[in-house]
Amino acid sequence: MPRVPAARHHYLIYRSSTSTSSSLPFSSSSFSSSERIYTIGPHWSGLVFTIFLVCFASFLFITHVALDLGPTFVGIACVYTSLTLLTLLRTACLDPGFITRSVPPSLPRRKFCHVCRLYTGPTAGHCEDCKVCIEGLDHHCPWMGHCVGKGNLGAFLCFNCVWLTYVLFVLGCLAVQSGVFGRERAGAGGVEGGQ
Ligand SMILES: [Zn+2]
Ligand SMILES: [Zn+2]
Repeated sequence: MPRVPAARHHYLIYRSSTSTSSSLPFSSSSFSSSERIYTIGPHWSGLVFTIFLVCFASFLFITHVALDLGPTFVGIACVYTSLTLLTLLRTACLDPGFITRSVPPSLPRRKFCHVCRLYTGPTAGHCEDCKVCIEGLDHHCPWMGHCVGKGNLGAFLCFNCVWLTYVLFVLGCLAVQSGVFGRERAGAGGVEGGQ
């Protein structure tokens, strides 16, 4: 029988109560229940790119559109940018639901992961990108460089709500700006035509 290679992945794990960090695999018994685990995904460059994209797009919007419309629009754009970055970082740094030891044999419908070599619950999935089992795996998000699972799904949905609202706000501002400048051009054309 061929030997199954041990799971190898590159999540960085941070504990909330200490400054120490480690990488998987680790023993889940080494974390107390009160500790919160923060992580940086193996494809962290995706997160850096997403942060750059949000900042660059916001910079263009503020300098080319919001400034023309007034300080209120600039303020709202800054709040939206901050909220988008905060929810993005929260999703990307929360523990998605690492499974590091088998569930009890009494649990019904448990499955065996041949890569991690442990039994998981029915909602767990093995991420091929991260090479780790995640509780309630939704998908691997390249924009976060990280899995989205039971542990950060709420934060992920919150992030999506924030950036979608931001996009709607930007589209609304573009419509207002084109309407304002359209009226100004029409007014200027009327004055020139009347002379
Ligand atoms: Zn697995
Ligand atoms: Zn993943």
